[in-house]
Amino acid sequence: MGRLSGKIALITGGSRGQGAAEARLFAAEGASLVITDVLDPEGEALARELREGGAVVDYRHLDVTQREEWQSVVRHAQSIHGRIDILVNNAGISQRSGLMDATLEEWENVLRVNLTGPFLGIQETAPMMTQGGSIINISSIGGMLGYRSAAYAASKWGIRGLSHSAALALVDRGIRVNSVHPGLIDTPFLGNRMAVSEALRKLTPMQRAGRPDEVAALVLFLASDDASFITGSEIVVDGGFFTGAAMKSMMRTLDAEGA
Ligand code: NAD
Repeated sequence: MGRLSGKIALITGGSRGQGAAEARLFAAEGASLVITDVLDPEGEALARELREGGAVVDYRHLDVTQREEWQSVVRHAQSIHGRIDILVNNAGISQRSGLMDATLEEWENVLRVNLTGPFLGIQETAPMMTQGGSIINISSIGGMLGYRSAAYAASKWGIRGLSHSAALALVDRGIRVNSVHPGLIDTPFLGNRMAVSEALRKLTPMQRAGRPDEVAALVLFLASDDASFITGSEIVVDGGFFTGAAMKSMMRTLDAEGA
């Protein structure tokens, strides 16, 4: 019996990266899945692969910024499964420019995908959730620190306010809401920004990027009944970055110098 047996899960941005790792793990743990994304061929291929492994999985196109698309996906889940137990608001984007260079369009685009998307997701899926439901919002350590992209940081800080508010709004209905804060994770999200990734890797106390399955393991825990008393929590999965990347880097320098 899997840890999510009998549960119905909807994952946004599930075609690749962390979302795909969560889809794979959830399927292996017995959940029925609706994988959604804007990358349709990749999402269809993943759903096919998981179905071939015996899981109940389908893929639907969902741009998280579009309320009508949320409504259509939720109607679909309702017609097939009758309800949704788990929502993973995972879809996210970033942009390169710093605060003073970012255009209004870039700022609004990042906030629409990273913050308005989860807001719409909660509004549209929570009515279909019952006692024992779980919502996991993927934020970032960029939602706990200042960051080069102010839009990204603001959107990921915003997720924390949204998650706390949703945790309180939905607690009487038995729905838990938590946020997950990954550090550097090896996914296509990093693109070709090798210099940024390498700088972050060096600063990470574990001296490596995380793997998508290492985030998925935490998301699985929060989705499952093992986390039945946890709501409104913010959990980092970052190789120690938030604990003290700068301090650890200084300690290494001092150790190397024998100081
Ligand atoms: P990724 O780029 O591999 O995956 C993100 C997915 O979101 C993609 O499949 C993409 O198509 C989808 N997406 C983008 N815009 C969308 C939209 N409008 N509607 C629906 N789907 C959309 O990156 P990832 O690392 O797997 O990112 C997953 C989450 O983790 C994101 O929220 C990201 O901000 C967060 N995160 C990533 C890192 C990292 O280092 N990779 C670190 C901290 C937080």
